[in-house]
Amino acid sequence: MAKAIKVYEILKEEYPDAKCGLDYHTPFQLLISTMLSAQATDKSVNKVTEDLYKQYPDLESFLTLTQEEIEEKIKKIGLYKNKSKNIYNMLRELEERFGGQVPKNMEDLMSLPGVGRKTASVVLVEAFNIPAFPVDTHVFRVTRRIGIASENTPDKVSDEMMKKLPKKYYHLMHHLLITHGRQTCTAQNPKCEKCCLKEICKYYKIEFKNRK
Ligand code: SF4
Repeated sequence: MAKAIKVYEILKEEYPDAKCGLDYHTPFQLLISTMLSAQATDKSVNKVTEDLYKQYPDLESFLTLTQEEIEEKIKKIGLYKNKSKNIYNMLRELEERFGGQVPKNMEDLMSLPGVGRKTASVVLVEAFNIPAFPVDTHVFRVTRRIGIASENTPDKVSDEMMKKLPKKYYHLMHHLLITHGRQTCTAQNPKCEKCCLKEICKYYKIEFKNRK
């Protein structure tokens, strides 16, 4: 069995409840939440959007907000000034260029202000079930440590993973890797000795064992 598929099978057993950590009800809300989640925890984003989406559930209502009002509402989240500016501009382009509909393809999504490949991939795979493989900091670190990816940028790792896995695995694998990165394969002091992947992990074989 190819290593990437083996990793998928093992992590699926280990984390049967792995799923998206952001709370949302529509593709539009997922797009906003994902833009807010850059360098912020899902928990901090959900805390802010819980009330925000009650008052402003859709594009129409969001368009009534000034950039300063958006800033005020999301100021508990990191990089809020930049995020407010991007969201303010993105809302207008969504309305003007896409008739208020969240695009269902990578190119159009990435043409929106503040929407990079990771955010576009999350929206495609999560909201529309269109194959895409989002690579965030956890996925980038964990795939390279295990040895199922070797490329040096998140976009290239995304391409690499899409070549190695059947399309139907993309969505869940992305969540499994994030969960593993948060709970076990943490950036600092990964819990290798109790890790379900240590028998097949490149980092464990080469680096961790040699240090002991
Ligand atoms: S063995 Fe260590 S480095 Fe490898 S996946 Fe597990 S926690 Fe991460």
